Amino acid sequence: MRPSHRWLSQSLNRLAMRPKSTSFIGLGRMGHEMAYNLFSKQHAQSSDSHFVVCDAAPEVSQSFCQNFTKQFPGAQISIAATPEEATLASQTVITMLPSSPQVRTVYNEGIIPTIQSLPEEFARSMLCIDSTTLDVEVARTVAQNVAQAGAQMVDAPVSGGVTGAKAGTLAFLVGGTESAFKLSYPFLSFMGQKIIHCGPSGAGLGAKICNNLILGVQQIVVGEAMLLGDKLGLDPAVLASVVGSSTGNCWSVSTNNPVPNSLPGKSPPCERDYEGGFATSLMLKDMGLATNLSSLAGTPLPLGEAAERIYNQVIQEQPVLAKKDFSSVYQYLKKLSEQGKKVRVRYETV
Ligand code: NAD
Repeated sequence: MRPSHRWLSQSLNRLAMRPKSTSFIGLGRMGHEMAYNLFSKQHAQSSDSHFVVCDAAPEVSQSFCQNFTKQFPGAQISIAATPEEATLASQTVITMLPSSPQVRTVYNEGIIPTIQSLPEEFARSMLCIDSTTLDVEVARTVAQNVAQAGAQMVDAPVSGGVTGAKAGTLAFLVGGTESAFKLSYPFLSFMGQKIIHCGPSGAGLGAKICNNLILGVQQIVVGEAMLLGDKLGLDPAVLASVVGSSTGNCWSVSTNNPVPNSLPGKSPPCERDYEGGFATSLMLKDMGLATNLSSLAGTPLPLGEAAERIYNQVIQEQPVLAKKDFSSVYQYLKKLSEQGKKVRVRYETV
């Protein structure tokens, strides 16, 4: 879709404002919190900053703007109907989308053609930051196309979940040139605490996918152990505390424990019927990214493949869990146990 006439004429008037303007595309569970932190800190630093939000669901952008202006009256924030409008308005564009198909569409059909249509000096000053977790090859190709259009780009996927996004404590795993990394740093430091340059384009995603491979497997085994503990008559808070201070400790035990009342004083998604965390469907996507990468790299992934199958079964057999936090795999295991069923994942070397 091309930018509307209204937006184009406004944007032309505002070309001079592009350096002070930041656009954020994709205001979902993560993007909403990240944009809020970024914009509120930029606004505190300079009251003439301008912000632009864009989401496929227009009501999401509207409610974001309403909340933001309520908290920061006088802040300059507007809604872009399309990624093209968001790109015309700002020198820096940040994207936080579900996965590869959405990144391909938003960049190849929106952002990149718009950069190509900009005067050369505007294109050269442009920075794109993509924080989506997606396929490494897709990300590298998009970044190459952005570079060919004259702009710079980093892949900057995140670790830390919705809680970290809200608190501004995310870890950003960045892939790109040294110069693009330096340009992106001030923006990322408003949304996170650890900003790690992992290497060239795609390196941030490679690191992120390895991390989520570990996380996806861990969350299942924590569900298994908590369920077994329950059968053995252990109080979940006692078991979580024991493992949390022992060698089995990990984020899935001590922050994202899947059993209600296991973490007194904390509020993991299981306390809200598994709402508001990292969707099971997104974890299944990440396990798929890991298994694809491992088959390209020729490394064995027996546990990763088993975990991918289990998340797939969760969604097939209990579709209601697809949008819930992936720790709800515990609910799936619990239901199987109540039904007297088992999960069998065959392991063979080929
Ligand atoms: P989400 O589904 O809640 O949000 C995605 C947003 O993108 C939605 O608001 C959707 O409307 C919007 N969108 C989709 N297509 C679009 C398009 N073409 N144009 C504009 N907007 C579009 O997902 P999320 O949980 O925020 O996750 C986003 C990314 O971050 C994913 O890649 C995920 O794997 C990764 N991630 C998520 C978490 C987490 O805890 N949720 C943690 C780390 C990384």
